[in-house]
Amino acid sequence: MIAIPKDKSIDLLKKLSFPRPTGSNNEILAQKIIINELKKLKYQVKLEKVKYIKSKIIRKIETVARYQIILWLTIISTFLHPLIIVFLFSLYFYSKFYFYPKIQLKLAKGITYNLIANYVSNKNYRNNKKIVLCAHYDTAKIRNESMQKRFKLYSNIFDFTDFLTYSFIVLLFFTGITNISFTKSFSWQDGLLSFNSLIIESMWLFFIFYFCIINLLFIYFILSNKNRYSSGANDNASGVYVLLKIAEAVKKMKFNINIDFNFFAAEEIGYYGCRNWIKSHISKLEKSKTYFINVDTVGKGNALFINKGIGHVVKHYSNNFLIDTLKECATEIGFKTENFWGVFGDDSKLLEENLQACGIITSYPRKNSIISTLLNKLFLMPADIAIPFFDYIHNINDEYSNINKKNINKTIKLLLQSIEIIQKQLDSR
Ligand SMILES: [Zn+2]
Repeated sequence: MIAIPKDKSIDLLKKLSFPRPTGSNNEILAQKIIINELKKLKYQVKLEKVKYIKSKIIRKIETVARYQIILWLTIISTFLHPLIIVFLFSLYFYSKFYFYPKIQLKLAKGITYNLIANYVSNKNYRNNKKIVLCAHYDTAKIRNESMQKRFKLYSNIFDFTDFLTYSFIVLLFFTGITNISFTKSFSWQDGLLSFNSLIIESMWLFFIFYFCIINLLFIYFILSNKNRYSSGANDNASGVYVLLKIAEAVKKMKFNINIDFNFFAAEEIGYYGCRNWIKSHISKLEKSKTYFINVDTVGKGNALFINKGIGHVVKHYSNNFLIDTLKECATEIGFKTENFWGVFGDDSKLLEENLQACGIITSYPRKNSIISTLLNKLFLMPADIAIPFFDYIHNINDEYSNINKKNINKTIKLLLQSIEIIQKQLDSR
């Protein structure tokens, strides 16, 4: 039977619940608290350098760039052939997912640290079989007030914008193909307005109008965003606390497996901690013998959300063995589970590298919007009716007083049981 370290008051979580933005003195304070706890538990802590983009202007440009690019591509579709625009859209998606992330790491001049501790098994395990538990320790900016008030509405608007973007690309593609097959020729100047079709013209007008509004909305969000940071009790002092408790438990339980504890920095501004870690460790990793579990935002809600993967067109799936193990253990301890698809935290970066990973979060389930369900079906994603509802993170209410202690303890129990099963699986190889 697994013994969970007794800590009814979860004082350590309280101690960690204060704004910890990347690059601040508070961030250093948080690092000190984590290092201190790990040292108390007789762990050696490695500080690994993380580079992140310090310039707030670049970060703001990054946020608006996406909708700006979509708007400008819509505008130039007036006088450029639809297939050229489709090509430019592909170029945009390529740079967004493959090219820009590389540039971004080159532009990164700010420096912070990942905190890494290793539990080395007493059985003298070969170092290459291991479990890596991850949790980020930085906190996010507080959301704009109107965004917070109408959180559900805005999430639907953003889902709808994704849907419209894809629809626009489909429209361009079919118009372009039809044009070529009818005229049997290709002129790059044949923009959407040269087709003399009222339907295409009105759709074109609608798209331009819609993307203009979305851009204005986004610029308003950015300009009205104050420099205030959330206390991040749930996001993600909860995950850090869970990892520290597990670090404590495994020392007493003598597990026969190596466990790494990765406390990642700078997640909220672009997953920099995790990305830097991948960059410097991936070549040494034995991918098939390493399992990653990312713990993020586990302090509230009544359901455990297991992330099944990310991506619309190019999909990256979470590791099936991990999904099954987490689900099985959750059911055993009476933790309701839900599936989740999409980017939530650092696990998305691990999945992009095809590592055996899975992310967990806890939340109150919300019924998926019609648009989001439609997108799920359209892109053949393992669609679910429920999605996590996150109106209570990245705001002033993410405080220690709002943490559900039972949730935290359930997560600790769940992970300890899962580690036992993973250990057995790795042992049998
Ligand atoms: Zn988080």
